[in-house]
Amino acid sequence: MKFLSYWHDTAPAFAGAAQGPVEGHYDVAVIGGGFTGLAAARQLAKAGAKVVVLEAERVGWGASGRNGGHLNNGLAHSYLAAKAELGRERAIALYQAFDESIDTIEALIAEEGIDCSFRRAGKLKLASKPQHFEAIARNFEAVNTEVDRDTALLCAQDLKQEVGSPFCGAMLSKKSAMMHMGRYVVGLAEAATRHGATVFESAAVTEHRQAAGRHALKTARGSVTADAVLVATGAYTPSTFGYFRRRIIAVGSFIIATRPLTAAEIAASMPGNRTCVTSMNIGNYFRLSHDNRLIFGGRARFSAKSDQRSDAKSGAILKASLAEIFPQLVNVEIDYCWGGLVDMTKDRFPRAGYQDGVWYAMGYSGHGAQVSTHLGMIIADAILDRPDRNPLKGLEWPAVPGHFGKPWFLPLVGMYYKMLDKVQ
Ligand SMILES: Cc1cc2nc3c(=O)[nH]c(=O)nc-3n(C[C@H](O)[C@H](O)[C@H](O)COP(=O)(O)OP(=O)(O)OC[C@H]3O[C@@H](n4cnc5c(N)ncnc54)[C@H](O)[C@@H]3O)c2cc1C
Repeated sequence: MKFLSYWHDTAPAFAGAAQGPVEGHYDVAVIGGGFTGLAAARQLAKAGAKVVVLEAERVGWGASGRNGGHLNNGLAHSYLAAKAELGRERAIALYQAFDESIDTIEALIAEEGIDCSFRRAGKLKLASKPQHFEAIARNFEAVNTEVDRDTALLCAQDLKQEVGSPFCGAMLSKKSAMMHMGRYVVGLAEAATRHGATVFESAAVTEHRQAAGRHALKTARGSVTADAVLVATGAYTPSTFGYFRRRIIAVGSFIIATRPLTAAEIAASMPGNRTCVTSMNIGNYFRLSHDNRLIFGGRARFSAKSDQRSDAKSGAILKASLAEIFPQLVNVEIDYCWGGLVDMTKDRFPRAGYQDGVWYAMGYSGHGAQVSTHLGMIIADAILDRPDRNPLKGLEWPAVPGHFGKPWFLPLVGMYYKMLDKVQ
């Protein structure tokens, strides 16, 4: 078994990184080479701006190269809960922004010719318990009548042709998609450079200063100045940007990938070939890869660490969950195990805008593989002084009390959710 992201292992290397010292003056400096930063850089460069991307490791090294590969439309929250929290208008705008995100990615892939097996697969939100199905059905009624007709409610009987496991029913969101995340992120980086962006890898920003409307950014390979800065560092945001560190809670999420399944194994486990998410608080998400591996993820443990030791511990828990959901796959070999950090906000809604002199888009809370591209482009448009399409504009973002960057409270949160999963 490889302790490595399947997406990283099976994507081509990005060959367009700039060599030599980090230097010069740019219209915009983008910090972070994931979906958010690269989509913004491409959009800015296409408009003729002089852009530099500073990436600490290599493009797609963070969550963008480590996720479950679900491009799910709509909100990860229940729409009813989002409406209660944000009001109807904002909840609908946000739901639609996630829908548009998938259209944005589909169009971008076509325009740039990125070969990443994009497919409108549809998503199943699977009810793990009968009472969860009741809540899913209530939410479905509201979603289907108010915001998304491309949804359906499936009872346990209907589900038999979708998933080979006895879930209690599901909501199907038909617009959801999936793709090869590694090939997409490299394709996005190539597109950004093709349009004129400069991308430096191994260029962690260690210092940020602002004076007279100009920013200076220092890395170990040199420094740049820029008129505008976009912070697109997600869960990996460094302490240099304290405002965001107090608002982003970095939480580990973990994944295993099986060997390619046979046709008979797929027929017995994932005949519907959709993206699937279970309804437990500490739940699981899974899909097939284009080469028929089951990519099976979950929070597994409430840890703020993703390294080989932490990933292996979580991988063992995930293997047990996989066997519980699909006993027919209990003996299937696991080829990959990896993890990454998710940029949670307290209310699990993302944030994007302008703060303390810098632009930002982050806080996707594990539901950002689609909207990060979209928000990156929207924030790029705002930097370019184009009409403001930011669906999060003006959404308050208070600091998490007692949080200064290290989420010491995660084990307590984990215990709370475990308890909820027992009683709800
Ligand atoms: C295990 C896992 C599973 C997930 N599954 C899904 C899923 O199935 N569906 C879904 O919608 N979402 C999922 N997500 C979330 C999704 O992947 C993210 O929301 C999205 O990739 C965020 O992209 P980003 O560009 O904002 O951040 P990232 O991709 O994390 O990029 C941030 C980059 O900033 C760089 N960086 C950090 N500090 C510095 C610095 N000082 N200087 C320069 N660069 C720096 C990092 O190296 C990193 O490459 C998952 C996340 C994880 C971890």
